[in-house]
Amino acid sequence: MKGRDRGVANYDWVSKFPAATVRHLHCHSSDHRPISLVFNPNNESQRWFRKPFCFEEIWLSDNGCSDMVNCIKSISVSIRASEDLLIWPQTPDGSYTVRSAYRMLAMASHNAQLGTSNLNTSKKLWSGIWKLQVPSKVRHFMWRASGEALPTRSNLRYRHVLVDGTCNLCEDHPEDAMHCLWMYDYVKCIWLSDPTFNFPRAKRFNNFCDLVLFVLSEATSSTAALFAMVAWCIWVRPNKLREGQQVWDVSDTIQRAWDL
Ligand SMILES: [Zn+2]
Repeated sequence: MKGRDRGVANYDWVSKFPAATVRHLHCHSSDHRPISLVFNPNNESQRWFRKPFCFEEIWLSDNGCSDMVNCIKSISVSIRASEDLLIWPQTPDGSYTVRSAYRMLAMASHNAQLGTSNLNTSKKLWSGIWKLQVPSKVRHFMWRASGEALPTRSNLRYRHVLVDGTCNLCEDHPEDAMHCLWMYDYVKCIWLSDPTFNFPRAKRFNNFCDLVLFVLSEATSSTAALFAMVAWCIWVRPNKLREGQQVWDVSDTIQRAWDL
């Protein structure tokens, strides 16, 4: 394959399909290797399809796709046909260490143990989030945040898009949903500006999912809805700043979320 059979995605695409994975399939009849794109590896329904949906080259000649096709063709891929590089994704510099492999295996076995209780948790989370009186985009956001499926730096590192998943702002902590939406100092100030959200502060949560489950079970439905709206406002804030749109400061965020 010599570096030719590869997938290219921009940030917008990754944020639309955060769980998608790309891998090479084996092929004995060609020096190219087919690329398999799975949008949601955890989605049971995908296993029902026996024959994968295949890309047809004739699509490239369709007028409706010409802009996209030209854009993709303009991306320069190494002309030296260099050998594919093998990178160990578990360390920042890509080199293999026993310690990082041990950590990865420990994590995999921990996740496997969580398997059965996960199903009940997912059901509880799903029904709780779907009852929230908030716009459906916010419900989708809460579901993705709880499943650690947002394009956070931690998640992009996990999907091999970034080498380093550390938060850009504090440079001190992996940037996962919990950090971006609840723990990061600036974000903490937003939540602390309204005593309504003092009740979960006394507890420690392992991840954003645990926090959401706690809020869904302990808070009134209007507080849980406000919680989701504030989390949404916090999540879209950096994008709005990047696009030069108006954002609210710490003291206004919760009031504005309430008004939305
Ligand atoms: Zn940070």
